[in-house]
Amino acid sequence: MIFDTIATSGHEQVVFCHSKDAGLKAIIAIHNTVLGPALGGLRMWPYKNEQEALNDVLRLSRGMTYKNAVAGLNIGGGKAVIIGDPAKDKSEALFRAFGRFVNSLNGRYITAEDVGIDVNDMEYVFRETEFVTGVHQVHGGSGDPSPFTAYGTLQGLMAALHAKFGDEDAGKRTFAVQGAGHVGMEFIKLLREQGAKVFVTDIHPELVKRAVDEFGCTAVGLDEIYDVDADVYSPCALGGTVNEKTLSRLKAKIICGAANNQLATDAIGDELDKRGILYAPDYAVNAGGVMNVSLEIDGYNRERAMRMMRTIYYNVGRIFQIAKRDGIPTYKAADRMAEERIAAIGKIKLPHGGNSSPRFLGRMRGH
Ligand code: NAD
Repeated sequence: MIFDTIATSGHEQVVFCHSKDAGLKAIIAIHNTVLGPALGGLRMWPYKNEQEALNDVLRLSRGMTYKNAVAGLNIGGGKAVIIGDPAKDKSEALFRAFGRFVNSLNGRYITAEDVGIDVNDMEYVFRETEFVTGVHQVHGGSGDPSPFTAYGTLQGLMAALHAKFGDEDAGKRTFAVQGAGHVGMEFIKLLREQGAKVFVTDIHPELVKRAVDEFGCTAVGLDEIYDVDADVYSPCALGGTVNEKTLSRLKAKIICGAANNQLATDAIGDELDKRGILYAPDYAVNAGGVMNVSLEIDGYNRERAMRMMRTIYYNVGRIFQIAKRDGIPTYKAADRMAEERIAAIGKIKLPHGGNSSPRFLGRMRGH
């Protein structure tokens, strides 16, 4: 049954990792390594059962293939999950045991932080394997990715403004930003620096207050954000906020923000297209974080990271071109762009498949 599932989803390898002594039950899913080693975070979650953990890791690793491909990285897609409660079940032995499994894959999978994991956990993983990113800055780690994600989001936004209005000046536009957290606040700051009018909401009143006091935004209620007369709706909180209930309320002509999984369903994406609302696909727009972390693989450099964020402008622009070329909604065009790149690069690879060790990535990377 697992082979049927992974045949459909296109996974290359799924590794079940077990250490009784360390209490480790983990699954590493390598979806696709055509572009390079599979990079994707490690998630620790109290899954109800093993099937739920397997479904999650298969879904997330496939998503990483698309995200990394559209980002223009020479990196494939993978993900790992540990079945356990991050509040209770963490230990040095657990993460070191996981690190040994990662190491046994010899660079086919490179791990990183995801939900339930912090930099201290990664320190333990790092003791057992070099195939890890998101370690502390003293080990060459890249630190908090949020400012990069925000700056990358601005690049995606400029591509969207250009496509919709023929002019990428954010300063002329009005924004409804949902979520003033790590990425949202930084994004708001960038928008205000350009002179944009920004409406903001967040569950935490102190964050809204900061956005108002420090950056001169206008506060609106949690539900009111959908009714704001804005040119751009910017989801920077949770996923699924563009849905059947909110769609008819949104007045924006562009949807562009940092949140993951912004569209509740594909049908919503089709509907946006019909209504002429330009959707800048989330995983292309918010790739700044993964771009940043990918640079750790062959030696992190902040300047190089900032330059790399600019590619998001071109990637999002290319997605809009594909959408137009093929007469499809932009969310589909993003997937198509990823698939076309993987197919094209797959054809030019040497028959032996090259070396997927991070040491060789510098030569393979196009940036
Ligand atoms: P965060 O937790 O720092 O910020 C999210 C903010 O949204 C919080 O302040 C929270 O109070 C607020 N929020 C939650 N639900 C809300 C609601 N219904 N209405 C208004 N505000 C609400 O997280 P973050 O790191 O800023 O990430 C934001 C989004 O961007 C997430 O979807 C995340 O997956 C995505 N993302 C982040 C990065 C990154 O580099 N941090 C990279 C890629 C994608």
